[in-house]
Amino acid sequence: MEEAMGRSSQTSLLPTLAVVGLTGRYRDKFDPRTGGFMKLVAEAGPEDLNAAVDAAHIAQEAWRDMRPSERGRILVELGRVIRANGERLGEIESQETGKPAGQMPALINLTAQFFEFYGGIVNVMDGQIINEGPDYHVYTRRDPFGVVGVILPWNAPMHQAARAIAPALAAGNSIVAKPSEHTPGSLVELARLAVDEGVLPPGLLNVVVGAGPPVGRAMAAHPLVQKISFTGSVRAGQDLGRIAAERILPLTLELGGKSANIVFADADFDAAAAGSVRAFTWNSGQWCAAGTRLLVQESIHDAFVQKLVAEVEALRVGPEPDATSGPMTTLAQYEKVLSYFEIADADGLTCAVGGTALEGDRFGGGWFIAPTVYTGVDNDHILAREEIFGPVVVVIPFKDEADAIRIANDSDFGLSAGVWSRDIGRVHRVAARLEAGRIVVNEYGGGFVQTPCGGFKFSGYGREQGIEALGHYTQTKSVIVRL
Ligand code: NAD
Repeated sequence: MEEAMGRSSQTSLLPTLAVVGLTGRYRDKFDPRTGGFMKLVAEAGPEDLNAAVDAAHIAQEAWRDMRPSERGRILVELGRVIRANGERLGEIESQETGKPAGQMPALINLTAQFFEFYGGIVNVMDGQIINEGPDYHVYTRRDPFGVVGVILPWNAPMHQAARAIAPALAAGNSIVAKPSEHTPGSLVELARLAVDEGVLPPGLLNVVVGAGPPVGRAMAAHPLVQKISFTGSVRAGQDLGRIAAERILPLTLELGGKSANIVFADADFDAAAAGSVRAFTWNSGQWCAAGTRLLVQESIHDAFVQKLVAEVEALRVGPEPDATSGPMTTLAQYEKVLSYFEIADADGLTCAVGGTALEGDRFGGGWFIAPTVYTGVDNDHILAREEIFGPVVVVIPFKDEADAIRIANDSDFGLSAGVWSRDIGRVHRVAARLEAGRIVVNEYGGGFVQTPCGGFKFSGYGREQGIEALGHYTQTKSVIVRL
């Protein structure tokens, strides 16, 4: 049955583990490194979702009433189980996504950290005592929602699952998670381990594997699902938002990006070049926060582009475990990136490096794309407006600080931004003016579990990560006692 699993934990209502989807349908999963058939993956339908929500609903009551310190202990233990099984989890995810195996330990570490962090912080999650005068005793509580639906993309499956599931569980909710139909294996295995190793109570973490519209929409419409955390495209986020509007269902939306990465003339030139390459090539650009609009100050523009191209040429994209990046994870994504190359060619953009698929013996039939730099691109061009989600950067020159801020903010998106400068005053001025949920200075990376993450504008609302995320998985209740 390969990875054909509909749910991975269940209450006594659902007596078998890793059950086959009730629909009995499967989809073919292809290998991004070869383009060939890999395995079958279950195709759940609304009936699978209903069973999972029922299980989650039943399990939530006891979990909610558990002392936070005990919930925390269990989450920390789950972190330990993830680390102990990191090799297997990493192998599944590397195969399904095409990520170089050598990059998985860092992602496993982050996945475990989410459970460890929220397992600890839940012990200090508290309400307030409010002074309404001597005749009252007033306080607030933070109550869980109940069943939380978690809908996930395919670019960093376990990491994104953990960053939503860990705070939601810590706060006393139960979970029905829907991984991407393209990359469900690692989360299914994580949930299976959590139950098999006796860490999580049955029914608390349910994984339903299936396509977006039928399962995701049914999740948002299900009366027992009280909150949804969605990570994915703007289109699907809008779709969920329409359903949520009918139910007044709270959403956390972590959507796309077209992040500006700004290099001032006074920056550490070499560090900025290396960091700017990583910004758009990490995970082959399949990264929501990727720095794909590279704004470079005019006075260093030409030299910087030269250095950038040299850095890009030194990358080693390929199927090997130690490659700097792997293929596109889905065929649709591969074709989408190639379609932007056609637009760039038709519009006569200057391609400094890349601009093609990578073909030949080493790449087989895999979905590999050459890291690509277009220069002198107008910020109004489609390649500067739309999220490509591939290893493609457009370089846009700017005159001064005000010009950089204007161009950076002239975007529908606002997920992340990078600033490279040695001028400490400028760094803080620019960070304050940029319309983005996360500003990274003199580095361009991710992986800050304790730091809130989320978007401005079309990049979404609500926040994952950090203490703040706990607020998005609880609702405040005021208790007013007349003495
Ligand atoms: P996607 O929106 O196609 O799919 C995401 C998930 O939603 C999948 O599980 C999919 O099955 C489901 N889905 C699809 N259509 C749906 C619908 N109409 N109703 C309910 N669910 C639906 O996105 P993707 O292609 O898997 O992922 C790439 C996108 O995710 C990019 O736009 C990227 O920027 C974004 N992303 C954002 C973040 C973030 O933190 N902001 C992180 C990673 C990825």
